[in-house]
Amino acid sequence: MEHKFTKNFPEMEILPLTSRVTQGRLSIGGCDLHNLAEEFGTPLYIYDEETIRLICKDFIREFSHCYEDVKIEYSTKAFSNPSVNRIIDEEGLHIDVVTGGELAIAIASNFPANRINFHGNNKSEHELIEAIEYGIETITIDSFHEIFLLDKILKSKSKKQKVMIRVSPSIDPHTHLLTTTGILDSKFGFSIETGDAEKAISQIMKLDFFDLLGVHFHLGSPIFELDPYQQAIDYVITFSSRMRDLYGLNLRRFSPGGGFAIGYVTNELPPKISDYARIISESVKKGCDKYKFDYPELIVEPGRAIVGRSGVAIYSVGAIKEIPDVRTYVSVDGGMGDNIRPAIYGSQYSVIPVGKINHKWDNKVTVAGKFCESGDILARDVFLPELSSGDLLALPSSGAYCIGMSSNYNMQVRPAVVLVNNGVPKLIKRRETYKDLLETSLNID
Ligand SMILES: *Cc1c(COP(=O)(O)O)cnc(C)c1O
Repeated sequence: MEHKFTKNFPEMEILPLTSRVTQGRLSIGGCDLHNLAEEFGTPLYIYDEETIRLICKDFIREFSHCYEDVKIEYSTKAFSNPSVNRIIDEEGLHIDVVTGGELAIAIASNFPANRINFHGNNKSEHELIEAIEYGIETITIDSFHEIFLLDKILKSKSKKQKVMIRVSPSIDPHTHLLTTTGILDSKFGFSIETGDAEKAISQIMKLDFFDLLGVHFHLGSPIFELDPYQQAIDYVITFSSRMRDLYGLNLRRFSPGGGFAIGYVTNELPPKISDYARIISESVKKGCDKYKFDYPELIVEPGRAIVGRSGVAIYSVGAIKEIPDVRTYVSVDGGMGDNIRPAIYGSQYSVIPVGKINHKWDNKVTVAGKFCESGDILARDVFLPELSSGDLLALPSSGAYCIGMSSNYNMQVRPAVVLVNNGVPKLIKRRETYKDLLETSLNID
């Protein structure tokens, strides 16, 4: 992406697009990070509205440039929040939800039902009813159990529902095993290889209340390579042509999922959105030309890539423990409760010394969280200036799957979240309190 913003140090490449350093102080969206930390406390998550909007526009522009009929669908599980949903709505994107809870947030944001898709490998009957009652556009079917449940609900309501089917193409996108979803050994989707996908399509095509629009797959995330998309699209379109010949499947819609990578560290930067757009569009057109399909409507589903870069976590340094000749632990006031990714995926993060950017970053330290787990490490062996208790540290690329995956482990309250724009911070999620922790457990006999 090319934007007008200046580069001061390598990490600017992965910080929100409005990040600036003036006189050694870092600001985002026109808000000085020290001031934000003072006003809202730490740990604090900051989201830059302009970055979210620019990235939404980039996705629409780059994909529309390569493919005529394309929709961008934000996966709200990356960060589900009413204010962010509002921005996504204003930018004209669609969204997907994977639970009744995410749907409730979408409904509370007044998100238009005709731009919502329901994903997930084990939707309950209750969740399906909630989705149908809100009138959401599509449900992406993931299992035989779901076909059964949905058929029962639709019959009882005499209602026709647009659906997609999630297939699994047995293709490995070479990301972390725990974030790989399109291989044979996966809980997600109907496997093409085992014949389940064919069986499901033959069933769905016979059901009166199902309007099957097309086929969806999602390989995993984050995917730094372009090749897996090409291979999977080719394979799934070949499969779709067989389903057309055998069962009359009409491929009106096609979705190669999401999984687009973002930069977490400066030496591993992702392909550009335009690269993903080009490879996906070309592969879809090529497959459709080969099997004489009209070009279907294309749905791409970025989650991480929409909000990841806009978010930054701010922590305060507390205890510093130096173990001579071993390592120095710099502990901060958050950790795996608000960002579990390093602990479960071994994810790497860059760390920025907010108030000491102009100092020499020549001190190797390990930034640890405050949770009672040795695995609660946010960044191992990173180079930072000499730090003191009270210093602020920022973790870029914290907008996706951090707050979204947060927990109350150790009865730690979840951080506040602030949306910044044009120098104005807006609290979009308040810090939890001890009262919040007690509320679910008190007065229960
Ligand atoms: C999680 C998910 C996405 C979004 O993945 P990102 O890596 O955040 O882009 C898209 N589609 C489906 C079906 C998903 O489960």
